[in-house]
Amino acid sequence: MAQTIFLEDCYAKEADAAVIAAEGNKVELDRTIFCYQGGGQPSDQGKMVVISSGGMVVSCGEEYSVADVKKERGTIIHYLNKEGLNPGDKVHCILDWERRHKLMRYHTAAHILSAIVNKKTGALITGNQIETEQARFDFNLENFNRVIIEECVKEANEAIKRSLPVKMYFLPRKEAMKIPGVVKLATALPPQVDKLRIVEIGDVDIQADGGTHVKNTAEIGQIEVIKLDNKGKSNRRVYFKLS
Ligand SMILES: [Zn+2]
Repeated sequence: MAQTIFLEDCYAKEADAAVIAAEGNKVELDRTIFCYQGGGQPSDQGKMVVISSGGMVVSCGEEYSVADVKKERGTIIHYLNKEGLNPGDKVHCILDWERRHKLMRYHTAAHILSAIVNKKTGALITGNQIETEQARFDFNLENFNRVIIEECVKEANEAIKRSLPVKMYFLPRKEAMKIPGVVKLATALPPQVDKLRIVEIGDVDIQADGGTHVKNTAEIGQIEVIKLDNKGKSNRRVYFKLS
């Protein structure tokens, strides 16, 4: 699989890469800054500019936009706006950073808020969806009211204001699985890999996660609840935005 630059450095905005496979508008690279969709986080977008084609350096390379990125059968596939790239071509990749940074802010905020909801109520998080203008997460809780969630949001915002460092690192699977609560999503088991990527947000949350995050909570802003939904006896859904 391609080297996943976005897991090691969430702030890598540009990088050169080589095309290792191409099928129509679907392209695989040897290394990539584009995070694929998964774990409730939509894929990155951006563009690729051709640096060399068929072994020849191109001075004013053709531009391809990256519309979607997916992990398919163990490989990372970039869906481009058109065909034309071939194995061996070299491209300069540029991330749509404005979009990505929003997704990072929402993703880290979602971890903080769900960790606090879990800690305060014992609720299990059953799903989440991050977008560029809002995020939501679902959890299981029978006795639920607006006051509880408001307290959680207040606590989450206080944590965010403490400018907590967000650390991302890899741990051997065996060691990672010893961390209490390292797997937060009730439905998600970490992939069968030797090393798990851990995302640690100050003293608030630690979990195995393949998403992109800010490096300090000071970048997040403040959480504001937009809507609360009751979806059945114990299924709750919270929508929030960042200001
Ligand atoms: Zn996550």
